[in-house]
Amino acid sequence: MKKTIRYVLSEGIKTLQDNHITHAKIDATLLLEHLLDIDRVYVIIHDDEVITEQAYKLYRHGIMLRAKGKPLQYIIGHVAFMGLNFTVNEHVLIPRQDTEILVEEAITCIQKNKVTHILEIGTGSGCIPISLCHACPTIKVTTVDISKEAIEVAKENARQHGVEDRIAFIHSDLLQQVDKTKRYELIISNPPYIKREDIQGLMREVKDHEPMRALDGGMDGLDFYRRISTDVMEVASHRCYIFYEVGHNQSIEVKDILEERGYTHVKIIKDLAGINRVVTGEKYQS
Ligand code: GLN
Repeated sequence: MKKTIRYVLSEGIKTLQDNHITHAKIDATLLLEHLLDIDRVYVIIHDDEVITEQAYKLYRHGIMLRAKGKPLQYIIGHVAFMGLNFTVNEHVLIPRQDTEILVEEAITCIQKNKVTHILEIGTGSGCIPISLCHACPTIKVTTVDISKEAIEVAKENARQHGVEDRIAFIHSDLLQQVDKTKRYELIISNPPYIKREDIQGLMREVKDHEPMRALDGGMDGLDFYRRISTDVMEVASHRCYIFYEVGHNQSIEVKDILEERGYTHVKIIKDLAGINRVVTGEKYQS
């Protein structure tokens, strides 16, 4: 059989379907587009083009990894977030579309209140500070991650987007290594928030491939909201905004955590699917 685009695609889709991969067609197509550096229109118009033996080998290798459950984003090594392209590997959480609402809300707050100094907790791929810097040319961000490998990925992404001079990356467990003499006007985090008992029930591709440290939020999933909301008070400016992404059904608890610690104007914001996704608050201190 001639290895045309049409043929290898249908063969790849079949392999994925046989292995119960849900988005078989889109995954096989994205993989082929990535390997041949072509777009969707090319795939459709030139579907009788024969691909090289080398490209076919790489493609089949990718299909086999995907068939075993490896997320496509780790196979092709990048993902789109806020319209930007981010490099990812298995040391970082795959940026989710769900997180875009967090970034959008923070951008609105930054612009409205002329915020300049931001602290992010748990950067992963760096998708949050990099998108913020891209949208807001005058801000500076300090960000931390407990994983050295994640910091490397985030730094590489910052370089690719030309914002490395505006982001300080610190290898740190929460605020441990952060300079406590600095002050920040906005704190942002998409912390690990999966409840311990829910981890076993996660989809296999998440559980077996994404970094557990980026997911595990402790017994009730709220450990990091408690720790961050308390710890950041030490570096919060006189008036400081806090922005969290929260998991399904966590918004009321996170609102309580903030209010118990004296944050005011606590608001819950829904994502496009109507799910409570972001909790924000303000902190005034003298
Ligand atoms: N900030 C990164 C993201 O939103 C990583 C979050 C995490 O690892 N929990 O994708």
